[in-house]
Amino acid sequence: MLNRALLERYRCSESLADFSLSGELSPNAGYFKFGPNAVCYGQSAAGSRSPELVPGLYDTDNDVKIHDATVDLPFDPNSVIDNLRLERYATDHNLNGTQPLGRKALRLAYYSLRPLFPVSVRRHIQKVYLRGWDNRPFPRWPVDTSVENILEHCLAVEMKAKGLAEIPFIWFWPEGKSGCALMTHDVETTRGRDFCSALMDIDDEYGIKASFQVVPEKRYDVPESYLSGLRDRGFEIAVQDLNHDGHLYSQRDEFLRRAELIRQYRKQYKATGFRAAILYRNLEWLPELDFSYDMSVPNVAHLDPQSGGCCTLFPYFIGKTLEIPVTVTQDYSLFHIIGEYTLDLWKQQARLILGKHGLMNFIVHPDYIIDEKPQQTFRDLLAHLAKLRAEQNVWIPLPHEVDEWWRARVQMQLIDDGGTPRITGPGNERARIAYARLQNGQLTYSFDSQRATH
Ligand SMILES: [Zn+2]
Repeated sequence: MLNRALLERYRCSESLADFSLSGELSPNAGYFKFGPNAVCYGQSAAGSRSPELVPGLYDTDNDVKIHDATVDLPFDPNSVIDNLRLERYATDHNLNGTQPLGRKALRLAYYSLRPLFPVSVRRHIQKVYLRGWDNRPFPRWPVDTSVENILEHCLAVEMKAKGLAEIPFIWFWPEGKSGCALMTHDVETTRGRDFCSALMDIDDEYGIKASFQVVPEKRYDVPESYLSGLRDRGFEIAVQDLNHDGHLYSQRDEFLRRAELIRQYRKQYKATGFRAAILYRNLEWLPELDFSYDMSVPNVAHLDPQSGGCCTLFPYFIGKTLEIPVTVTQDYSLFHIIGEYTLDLWKQQARLILGKHGLMNFIVHPDYIIDEKPQQTFRDLLAHLAKLRAEQNVWIPLPHEVDEWWRARVQMQLIDDGGTPRITGPGNERARIAYARLQNGQLTYSFDSQRATH
């Protein structure tokens, strides 16, 4: 089924998305384009593929073949999108096997000891460590939408092939919300843990509930009273790693031992969500942790120790686990690597994300906003999000609500009820029908059918 990724994204009628391959796929994988905006990585049946993202990539757009209203694509969109979302394209600039062991050891030592260094020392080490991050062409800084661009172009090609003016689909968010924003707090130290009560007061001032990612072992004590203090105020608890030493995925045996403990803490915390320390990830092993959702994959990871990025602004499945990607720069990176206390970057990212109706997923650590200056920046951010909610109809739920919505939505069907599209399936009362249309070659969305008004 070449249309799996497209149907997952749009939940449109299956008959509107039938693709075949236009030819035999190349043995090798690489970068190529599909139309002017979409960067792909993988095998293709036409032209050339580049091992690096360079200007003048081969564009497969002219190799699309249309016959009898069906579309032959010069690549498999599912595998190209998996290559991006599962970071199979990534040669890890910071972590890969070609890196000298000394540097790898330094990284692990540094990130395990990080809380012990004063911020000035950390900042210095990190700047040296991440040197050149702003020259990396892929994923695209500060927000990468490659997955969305590819699927939009697939839908556009399909509409042209079938001569359709519009395609109805199930809108991305409940109640027709224009986009989504999540606030998540990773609790790193005792000092951060002890600030959580004050932090909930701040969140509540702006009417924004957040999830707290709690480290079960080694970092600080986690008494039941702390957990119920979060829960009773309507905040969410997720499990953060096991002990935050940066070695969760280092060795298979040790991972299995830790996974068992993590699953126990999941039950004890009544948590359905997980985040790995320092956003380290092994997406093949992740589903074994057995959480309903995970939030460990950055959209573009230039400022994280493990580089890469999933190149999407929407949730997606990794096995049975729903990945809710981290799509916005973390507070730590903003304050201490970029050295900014303004909202400029966060606002720019929010604008780009909402331009695609995507999901903003913020990580703000209680540990780093105790001081007045960063705390003011955080308050400004909450005020900005509250404004987006009021003025642009942005949804600000807890992560588990996104998980539940996305799972409900993938089960819904759009059926043709005597010429009128209708959504079936549990939760359909929250879903809205939207219409994709082509305007000057660009895909646009609307809640009104033009057919109905003409
Ligand atoms: Zn952490």
